[in-house]
Amino acid sequence: MSVRVPLSDTFVNGDVSFWYRAEGIPRPGAPLDGDTEADVAIVGAGYTGLWTAYYLAKARPDLRVVVLEREFAGYGASGRNGGWLTGDLAGTPERFARTHGPLAARTLQRAMFDSIDEVVAVAGAEGIDADIVKGGVMQVATNAAQDARLRALLAHDRAWGWTKDDLRLLTAAERESRIRVAGAVNAVWSPHCARIQPAKLVRGLLRAVRGLGVKVCERTPVTELAARKAVTPRGTVTARYVIRATEGFTADLKQYHRAWLPMNSSMIVTEPLPSSVWEAIGWNGDELLGDLAHYYMYAQRTADDRIAFGGRGKPYLYGSRVDDRGQTHNWTISALWELLTGMFPAVADHRVDHAWSGVLGVPRDWCSTVHVDHASGIGWAGGYTGHGVTTANLAGRTLRDLILGEDTELTALPWVGRRVRGWEPEPLRYLGVHTMYRLYRMADARENAGLRRTSALARIADTITGR
Ligand SMILES: Cc1cc2nc3c(=O)[nH]c(=O)nc-3n(C[C@H](O)[C@H](O)[C@H](O)COP(=O)(O)OP(=O)(O)OC[C@H]3O[C@@H](n4cnc5c(N)ncnc54)[C@H](O)[C@@H]3O)c2cc1C
Repeated sequence: MSVRVPLSDTFVNGDVSFWYRAEGIPRPGAPLDGDTEADVAIVGAGYTGLWTAYYLAKARPDLRVVVLEREFAGYGASGRNGGWLTGDLAGTPERFARTHGPLAARTLQRAMFDSIDEVVAVAGAEGIDADIVKGGVMQVATNAAQDARLRALLAHDRAWGWTKDDLRLLTAAERESRIRVAGAVNAVWSPHCARIQPAKLVRGLLRAVRGLGVKVCERTPVTELAARKAVTPRGTVTARYVIRATEGFTADLKQYHRAWLPMNSSMIVTEPLPSSVWEAIGWNGDELLGDLAHYYMYAQRTADDRIAFGGRGKPYLYGSRVDDRGQTHNWTISALWELLTGMFPAVADHRVDHAWSGVLGVPRDWCSTVHVDHASGIGWAGGYTGHGVTTANLAGRTLRDLILGEDTELTALPWVGRRVRGWEPEPLRYLGVHTMYRLYRMADARENAGLRRTSALARIADTITGR
C-alpha cells in the first residue's frame, strides 16, 4: 500500500506531534536538584501523573508531591493523542466482572461517563482552554462485516447497562446529517465523548498543578523505581509513596519490562480545509468519528478546521523499544491518507501538514489497572490500551484515595488492584504483535471484498494477543 501523499510546504514528520505546532515544543523546566524527601513521588508527567498530583494537592495541600519527568510534561501520549475524551472502558466489562461481579463492571462504566464531565469541569474551573466540545461520537460501518460488528457492539453494550441515551443506531438520514462518510452503511452515536486539544490539556494541567505547589521536575529520567524511592541521575527522591505513571514507556524500567507492551498509534493532520470541503462532508465539528475496522481509525475536526486522523501505527519495535520523537513510517502516512480520502473524497485535493506517532501501554489482558501497595509504597495506573484520556482522570482520583488510605466508591471499582501476568519474552512478543497486525490487515481486506461477517483471521489475531 503506497499511494502518493500530497504534503504541505510546512509538512513535519514527528517533532512530538502537531498539537505543539502553534505554541512550539515546550522548553523543559528545571530538573531535580539533588536528593529530595517527599510524601509522594510520581514518575511521568502525562495525564496520569498530573491528575494524580492535582487531586492530591487539592485534597491535602500540606503534602509534598514531586513529579519526575524524563523529557517535558506532555511529551508522551498525553501530548500526541487523537483528542477523544471518551467514555469507553479501557478493558472489557466481562473481565472486570470476573473478579468483582457484573454490578461493579457497570459501576466502572458509569464512572467513566462521569469522568468526562469531571475533566470538562476542572478545565473550566482552572481556566484550561483545551478546545473542549462535548458533542459525542459517531462510529460508522463501511461494509457488511463491520455492520454486523456494530450491531453486536450495540447488543453487547445494552447487556452491560448502556441505555438508548448512551448509545443508539442512527437512521441513514441522521447519519448523513452529521458526517457524510463515503461508503457508510450504518452508524451508532453516543453522547459520551468530547473533543479536546491534547497538548493544551496536558500543559494546562501542568500549570494548574504547579499553581498548587507541586514540584514538577523535567529532564529528570527515573532509572530505578523501588520501595519508597525513585532514583535519577540528578538525585534520589525518597517518599512514602512512589507512583509509576509511565504508560507506553514502562518497558524502559527494568523490573517492569514485560508489564505493558508499548504499542504504536499514528496520526496525520490535514491543512485547514476550506468551507467547500466541509459543505461536502457536513461535519460541524462537534462529534468525533471512528469506525469498526480491525485496522481502525479515529478522527476529529480540529478547532482550526483540519481533520486529525489516526489509526494503528508503525509496527511494534523488537524488545519493546519505544520511539524517538514521534516520527512515523511513510507507509503509515500513506495508509492513513488512503483511509481518510476513501472516507472523504473531497479531502483528496488537499495536503497533509503533519504526521506523528506515539506509544500506548497494553497489558496482557487488555484491561487497565490502578494499584497502591502500602507495604512498599509503590503504586501505578495505566495499561489504558489507547483509552487513557478519560481513564487517567479516574486514575488520578482513585490514586488520591488509595494514597490517603480512604475507602471510597472509587477504591471499590473493579480495576483497582488487578493482577495481570506479563507479556511473553522475545521473540514471541514481536512475532505475536506483528502477526496480529498482518491478520487484521488481511481480515479488513476480506471484509472490504464482501465477507458478510467478521473474518476468522481477526478472531485468530484476538486469540493470539489475548484481546
Ligand atoms: C497517537 C495516539 C492517539 C491516541 N488517541 C487517544 C484518544 O483519542 N483517546 C484516548 O482516550 N486515548 C488515546 N490515546 C492514549 C492516551 O493518549 C494515553 O492512554 C494517555 O495519554 C496516557 O497518559 P499517561 O500519562 O498515562 O502516559 P503518557 O502521556 O505517555 O505519559 C508518560 C510520561 O512518562 C514519562 N516517562 C516515561 N518513562 C520515564 C522515566 N523512566 N522517568 C521519568 N519520566 C518518564 C514520559 O516522558 C511521559 O511524559 C492515544 C495514544 C496515542 C499514542
